[in-house]
Amino acid sequence: MEKKIKAIGLLSGGLDSIVATKLILEQGIEVEAVNFVTVFCTCTSKGSTCLASQKAAEQLNVPLKVIDISEEYLEVIKRPKYGYGSGMNPCLDCRIFCFKKAKQYMEEAGASFIFTGEVLGQRPMSQRREAMNIIERDSGLKGYLVRPLSAKFFSPTIPEEKGTLDRNKLLAIAGRSRKSQISLAEKFNIKDYPCSAGGCLLTVKDFANRMRDLMKHNPDFNLADVNLLKYGRHFRVSPRIKLVVGRNESENHKIAALKKEDDIIFHAQEPLGPVSLLRGASTHGVESEFINEAASVTARYALGEGKNGEVKIRYFGARLGEDKYLKAKPVDEAKLNLWRV
Ligand code: SF4
Repeated sequence: MEKKIKAIGLLSGGLDSIVATKLILEQGIEVEAVNFVTVFCTCTSKGSTCLASQKAAEQLNVPLKVIDISEEYLEVIKRPKYGYGSGMNPCLDCRIFCFKKAKQYMEEAGASFIFTGEVLGQRPMSQRREAMNIIERDSGLKGYLVRPLSAKFFSPTIPEEKGTLDRNKLLAIAGRSRKSQISLAEKFNIKDYPCSAGGCLLTVKDFANRMRDLMKHNPDFNLADVNLLKYGRHFRVSPRIKLVVGRNESENHKIAALKKEDDIIFHAQEPLGPVSLLRGASTHGVESEFINEAASVTARYALGEGKNGEVKIRYFGARLGEDKYLKAKPVDEAKLNLWRV
């Protein structure tokens, strides 16, 4: 029996990658899907599995491997060769990094090429013709990267030249409109395609501001630092010191769970209020200066006004010994706004 040609598809679970996979499957090619996820993906909040890509793979009946690249990806964000987009999204470098990983996966799996759901001109940074060519070149995939939806706008790839892939059945879709993809989905009887583009926190303005602040003040940041950016209100108290205040019970728990050894936790007791995390104070032996500041910010978000306008705050940390208490008045709003990230 003749061995089936195999291809690796980058499957985000969005409409484009689903339709692209269908186009390749229709040619009788075996497909294995991969989905690279990072700490910045917004559809992976319930764990390390992208539900959209999982659902899409089930619908398409193809095997899927979800690969978490968060740790290594932090290096890409720190020094992107091609810079950032409108937020802190280094889209070109991100694609190059993922495609290099996909290339490695292709070689290990004995596949003949990689394909994606990219559409020429759909995204301003990574889907311009020039950018798409750079991504193909820098990832080492020249000739092996097929974009089924826009293939006719690019030179034939090696599988097309060899005839393992029929170029006539590939498409010439360009631009931001999704009309062609939607009618293709109807033709293929695909009805369910959630999380259309696979959200990325790096493109979200508020998160990008926090990311910029983290990179400026703590260039050696790690995954735990990034995770903390996802929750609470953030205040830069000094170049080295930061305070994060929970906005609700769920955030209070998450912030407390992200405590590092030298962090100090504050909790408003009377009246009840948020959990806050002070980072950077203990490490530099200057905690006492900032205990009162952190307590007064925590008091600002307590649920009501305490006796004499004061809030009782419990605070603790590895270097403080047993739990401590103090009374704090809510911080002045103008001061708070100066610190807000
Ligand atoms: S939006 Fe985010 S995930 Fe998508 S390419 Fe850009 S940096 Fe990467």
